[in-house]
Parts: sequence; structure tokens; C-alpha cells
Amino acid sequence: PNLNGPDHSGLISTHGGELSQSRLAAKDLVLDVLKKRAAEVDVDHCAAGEEDAFYVADMGEVYRQHMRWKMNLGRVKPFYAVKCNPDPEVLRLMTQLGNGFDCASKSEIDLALQTGIDPSRIIYAQPCKTKSYLRYAREVGVKQMTFDNADELYKIKAHFPDSELYLRILTDDSTSLCRLSMKFGASLDVAYQLLQLAHQLELKVVGVSFHVGSGAEDPRAFLKAVQDARLVFDQAEEIGHELHTLDVGGGFCQDTFEKFSGILSDALDTYFPPNVRIIAEPGRYYVANAFTLAANVIARRDTPDPLDPSRDAYMLYLNDGVYGNFSNIIFDHQHPTAQILLSEANPEQGTPNSATSDSISYSIWGPTCDGIDVISERIDLPGLVNTGDWLYFEEMGAYTKCSATRFNGFSDNHEVIYISSETGASALLNY
Ligand code: PLP
Repeated sequence: PNLNGPDHSGLISTHGGELSQSRLAAKDLVLDVLKKRAAEVDVDHCAAGEEDAFYVADMGEVYRQHMRWKMNLGRVKPFYAVKCNPDPEVLRLMTQLGNGFDCASKSEIDLALQTGIDPSRIIYAQPCKTKSYLRYAREVGVKQMTFDNADELYKIKAHFPDSELYLRILTDDSTSLCRLSMKFGASLDVAYQLLQLAHQLELKVVGVSFHVGSGAEDPRAFLKAVQDARLVFDQAEEIGHELHTLDVGGGFCQDTFEKFSGILSDALDTYFPPNVRIIAEPGRYYVANAFTLAANVIARRDTPDPLDPSRDAYMLYLNDGVYGNFSNIIFDHQHPTAQILLSEANPEQGTPNSATSDSISYSIWGPTCDGIDVISERIDLPGLVNTGDWLYFEEMGAYTKCSATRFNGFSDNHEVIYISSETGASALLNY
């Protein structure tokens, strides 16, 4: 893609809290599509499930994030973390943009290969792999993979001895919202022995990888991880391995990207000469903002406001919840914010005691019979929301649909309407 081509003024999409012009225009476009689609549904007469929640996915937003990446981390090649959102259109765009894929299982490998890419554009970035998946990776030629312990090396020796290995090292993820280091990563104390064992087993270590966790507060986590990786590179070379790639993992967030990428970029230039290839495994960074979800209000209950019993408050029940697309509340520490999409005054349901011009307090619940299924314990919305109205939620692209279940018989496969607010993405995807 040509950075001098279409208008990329939306690259840095938040600056001092203000959204850029192109991002604002993109949001308007998304809202229009959401409204049109929601307005087509007649909840009083439609067939069962026609009012199900649905997404609008703006591929232009994914494209803008890619351009932003290239501007700030030009040296680092993204291997998109499929786990985050394996949507086929997202994978197709990643392929068109020249990105690779980080896969964690056989089916993620299949999804990536189905885009037609060469297996060398995949890293099997799961340090503790299933034996049969390892054999499968060998069959389909996915050679690059991570490891972080001795047992895994013996397993790899038995099932895929000619693979290309990345030693995943431990990072300090204590300031991260989603921590991973309690589960994966070799400490520097054992890294040397692991590299020696790999050498004895005649396995090929080609790189080092790490993941600083997601939603980190302290960008110095990247600096420390790069410094540690340098140490491990030197140890590996001393032992006789020929390393050529550093994998800096995922965890990049929309709001802090410039700050983090600046520190990372400087650290890379300080510690790794240009002949070392640098890859990363961004997931949420690409897709979090690109997907907006609309859900229907299927029921409403009037209760006294727990904070002010003289006022009404309402419990709203949506047809999607934490067992569905709001799984990011449970698994990804997110707090999706409801906004009113379509609302029609419904006289049958009466009016609240407080004036409708004031904002009204709601709690918002999912459709299952489980009490844990709460989307928002308290939110003020401008006006009365009725059964049949639609709410929408922005920033629903990461760790949402992919971890939805069918608990209570509700759908785990909601419609996605694809649009593009960016000509670059439209051209690549033929929209
Ligand atoms: N790489 C690995 C090994 C991961 O475990 C994850 C997330 O768990 C990612 C990349 C993607 O992280 P994020 O979506 O925060 O960028």
C-alpha cells in the first residue's frame, strides 16, 4: 500500500481525546449502516431470531491501523494473531496487506492457509502444543513455532525435528490487564539450558519471542523484554544456533500505540542490527475498533433506582450477553458501553416517574438465565429505552465473537455486515 496515496489523516485516530475527521466520518458511516439494518426488523412480526444481534465491520479501520503500524513500526512485520478475531474478511485483508499469521491450533492454521498464503507466513505461536497438531503443522509445512520448556523440545524432536524454533522468554507483565507470563515463557535462568538442550537434540533455534501482555501500562516492559532477548540471542549464538528473527509478540493497544511503539522502535534499533528480522503478533490492535455490535432489547423491567429510590431505574435484557459476543467482559477485562441506536416511544410500557428529558439509569443484562450474564451494572442513557429498541456497542472487534458460546441455545454466529470507510481497503477487497 502506498502511504502517499489516499488520505490517511485518520491514522492517528485519537489525539488529545479528539477523534480525527476521517475517523468521525467512518463512525457516521457505520452508524448509518447499523440503523438501516436494525430498522428493517419488525420485532412484532419477524421470524424467530431475525432480531438477533449483528455486527458492522469497517475494514477501512483495519486498513488505517495497518498504515499507522507502518508509520510507527516500519521495521516490524505483523503476524496477525488469528485468535483475536478469525473473521474471514479480516484474514483476507491481512493477506492482501502482506501480513503473516500467528496461529495457536490446527484450525487456526487451516483458516490462515485457506487465504492462500505460503506456510512460511505462519508462526505456530503456542509454546505447549498438541502432538497431533505438531504432526499436522509438519504435513502442511508450517515450520516456525515457539517453545519454552524442555518437554516441548523432546516432543518437537519426535514429531517435527526440522521445525524452526523461537524460544519464548518470560516478560514482566505486572502492569498488563491481560497477563500471560504466569502461563508461558522461559525465565532467563533456564534459557541457556534450553538452548543447549535444543542444540544437543540437533533442533534449529532461529529466534526469540516474547509477549508483554495486553493493556500494559508501562511501555518500558518492551524495553526490558528487548534487552532480555538480546542476552538470549547472544547466548544462543555462543552455543552455535544461528538466529535471524526476533518476535516481539502482541499486546499493542489503540490508545497507547504511539507511546509504546516509540519505545519499542528505539530499543530495537539499539539492540538489534538491521539484518535481524523483526516480527510481531498484534491482535486487538488491528480489529478492536473495527467492529460495532447492535443488539435488540428483548425485555425491560422497572425497578426503583438503588441509589435513589424516588426515581425509576430499568433493567434491560438484550439478546446478546457474556455467553455470546460480550464474552470480552469475562475473558478480556473489557467494559463495553451501550449507546442507543434506534428507539421508539412505546405507550404500552408507560413513562418513568422521572422526566424523560433527563438521563435514565439502566442495568443491562444478557438473555441467558445466569446471573453472571450482566453487560453493564449501571449506565445512564438519554431517555426511555423500550422493548424492541436497539442498542449499539463500539470497539467490539477483539475477543468477542471468537469466544462466544451457545449456552442456553442462543446463537454464537451472528451476521457481520462488511463496509469500508477507506478507499485503500475497498480496492484491496473489491468492495
Ligand atoms: N500472541 C500470543 C502468543 C498471544 O497469546 C496473544 C494473546 O493472547 C497475542 C499474540 C495477541 O495479543 P493482543 O490481541 O493483545 O495483541
